[in-house]
Amino acid sequence: MAIEAASPHTMNTYGRLPIALERGDGAYLWDVNGKRYLDALAGIAVNTLGHNHPKFVAALQDQVTKIIHSSNYYHVPNQEKLAEKLVGLAGMTNVFFGNTGLEANEAALKLARKFGHDKGIERPEIVVYEKAFHGRSIATLSATGNEKVQKGFGPLVEGFIRVPLNDIAALKAATEGNKNVVAVFFETIQGEGGINAMRAEYLREVRELCTANDWLLMIDEVQCGMGRTGKWFAHQWAGIVPDVMPLAKGLGSGVPIGAVVAGPKAANIFQPGNHGTTFGGNPLAMRAGVETIRIMEEEGLLENAAKVGAHLKGALQNELGKLAGVTEVRGQGLMIGVELAKPCNVLSARAAEAGLMISVTADSVIRLLPPLILTQAQADEIVSILCPLVKAFLDE
Ligand SMILES: *Cc1c(COP(=O)(O)O)cnc(C)c1O
Repeated sequence: MAIEAASPHTMNTYGRLPIALERGDGAYLWDVNGKRYLDALAGIAVNTLGHNHPKFVAALQDQVTKIIHSSNYYHVPNQEKLAEKLVGLAGMTNVFFGNTGLEANEAALKLARKFGHDKGIERPEIVVYEKAFHGRSIATLSATGNEKVQKGFGPLVEGFIRVPLNDIAALKAATEGNKNVVAVFFETIQGEGGINAMRAEYLREVRELCTANDWLLMIDEVQCGMGRTGKWFAHQWAGIVPDVMPLAKGLGSGVPIGAVVAGPKAANIFQPGNHGTTFGGNPLAMRAGVETIRIMEEEGLLENAAKVGAHLKGALQNELGKLAGVTEVRGQGLMIGVELAKPCNVLSARAAEAGLMISVTADSVIRLLPPLILTQAQADEIVSILCPLVKAFLDE
């Protein structure tokens, strides 16, 4: 069966490959023609448990027979259960549930603005970063540091101050004497921006600066969170705790879910009527979140992400690190980027052709985000498929 590049009735929003996936099992996927792929993308850091995980499938089947949706007019018991679990893992206190990453970030931005208004700041300003990606709503695309995402959608939302990564002097200079600043907002490891990490020392300095100035430290862990780097949340490698933390992607292992987790400084900003969503926190998504975390703990997937990720990065470093056309192999756990010296978007199609799902982001960064169940043998398989493709591409 031939797959058309574009579909006549869905909007033309994605540059899709001509592949239609039908099913998955563990770290493998099969398309409608029966071709097998090793999944080193996990639906963009979403399928934490891989595909068709027996414990996860059984739990979702059980949930579907009970209740899928009920509305937030009533309590949803698993909201409380998942919130309690998340705040325990994060060292924070309260959670608001939505459905996507941008919604979690939108809630964070609203929290920051109301935090300011509650202190008498009428025009609150939020510090954001170069190359950041926070989503595609009008507010979150305004916070995003990528003109391609913003182009055509102006006027952008005001109230953002943009600074470079890992430069504490630049952050201080950009906010010096500005009484309207209410929050600093960034990804611990930028995903769409090209796997760019905030350094641990910088994270600690920003934490101190936020505390000293009574600003909210808001860390977007939508992509790098939920165990991907080998800790529950990537900022935990620096030993800090944010005031606000949006989550989404990996939290439901494929079921749409978003959450904004707050510490004491941000936990009581929203009062009844300030924020809400119809679908957010629904019983199906909450069960998915509860079971994802339970299975991750049962199967030691944080340790696995750290171990297999280090092995994968090391192997890629060995194979590609010294090549002239390779700028850097970087990342942590199972969030790995290989930056080439030239644009390489064509490589996602070539890898798929060779039976490997990857993505290319920021034009020249090969991005690997495999499911956290990846085995060392499967990591070796990624290397053995990807490296020859990269070498051939660099020779062109
Ligand atoms: C994907 C992503 C988002 C947006 O999430 P959606 O669910 O696509 O709205 C926001 N922030 C980061 C860091 C992301 O990686």
